[in-house]
Amino acid sequence: MADDYYDLLKVPRTATADEIKKAYRKKALKYHPDKNPGDPDAEKRFKDISEAYEVLGDEKKRQTYDRYGKDAFAGGAAGPQHSGGFSSMEEALRTFMGAFGGGGMGGGDAFESYFGGGGGGGNAKTHRQGASKRVNLTISFEEAAKGVDKELAITNYVTCSTCQGRGAASSQGVKKCTRCKGAGQVYEQRGFFSMSMACPDCHGEGQVISDPCTACRGQGVVKEKQHVKVHIPAGIDSGMRLKMSGYGDAGMGGGPAGDLYVFVTVEPHEVFEREGNDILLDLPITFTEAALGSKKEVPSLFSNGSRITIPEGTQNGKVFRVRGEGFPNVHGQGKGDLLVRIFVETPTKLTDQQKQLLQEFSNSASLSNQPKQQGFLDKIKGLFS
Ligand SMILES: [Zn+2]
Ligand SMILES: [Zn+2]
Repeated sequence: MADDYYDLLKVPRTATADEIKKAYRKKALKYHPDKNPGDPDAEKRFKDISEAYEVLGDEKKRQTYDRYGKDAFAGGAAGPQHSGGFSSMEEALRTFMGAFGGGGMGGGDAFESYFGGGGGGGNAKTHRQGASKRVNLTISFEEAAKGVDKELAITNYVTCSTCQGRGAASSQGVKKCTRCKGAGQVYEQRGFFSMSMACPDCHGEGQVISDPCTACRGQGVVKEKQHVKVHIPAGIDSGMRLKMSGYGDAGMGGGPAGDLYVFVTVEPHEVFEREGNDILLDLPITFTEAALGSKKEVPSLFSNGSRITIPEGTQNGKVFRVRGEGFPNVHGQGKGDLLVRIFVETPTKLTDQQKQLLQEFSNSASLSNQPKQQGFLDKIKGLFS
């Protein structure tokens, strides 16, 4: 206990962190219990140098030690952890592993293998969730607006009905693996390290099957074509996905099934266009309808159509809103509108008589008939005067 930490590691008080680490590693390898089985003297030295490194290997603790000595770590405020040196070999080993962490000797895994299984035996990871799947589904514009039920054909792994997922033909056919005693892991000596690895006899399952089920070849799951009904809610849009919990592959060893994700694409429509939950419709009208006013039928996805009134003097690009004829909100609240955008069409292929009539109309017209042109000319005048 009276030993100075620097003396223990045989480093000067001015040693760098790297020098301290190197010194500790060298000594720790020499006194490691795996190399000195049943040697109490080596065990004590291993604990002592590990305790020294626990302090000197940590910059803050080292500063405290330099100032106040060992007493700063014995009981009291520093906690019971280091009172009177390392009481347990486990703590010393932990420090040892820390000094080698990331040093090419296994890191985390080796650490686990050293201290894992504290409860005795350990459990193999036999409960595995099944894989989740993605399916792409294309639906029409109308189906997206109204909602639709679809049937998807998917190939999933499902629990084998012959053996109920056991994998063995009989319930006595599943036996605890004798090599790993059900832990699924075995330890291998490499140098003086024990490394853990998946048990080669049971492939980490912890159990072996002596009489494999013939239907699933001992897998517990079989591939099966399934027809899954899916309800696509009204208002769904391209790029949205639906999650169907538990419709993926069956889990292994009683683990939960995976999920099925349905990625939806909505086909474009010939006349309608979607903008959020509103539907856009371009409505061509003649220029006489625009000038004189008219009533027009507009198609709708949800009813037999609506009638809109186009007032006298309606301009190109004017938008009329038909409330509630848009997409329903996919979350079930409210609806969008139908937006009817007027497109005033210029007549083409006029007969001589039509041309004459239009000319007569033009002769009788004045700028007051063309409010926009009036305003435009006024602005031009301002520019050049
Ligand atoms: Zn095994
Ligand atoms: Zn089976």
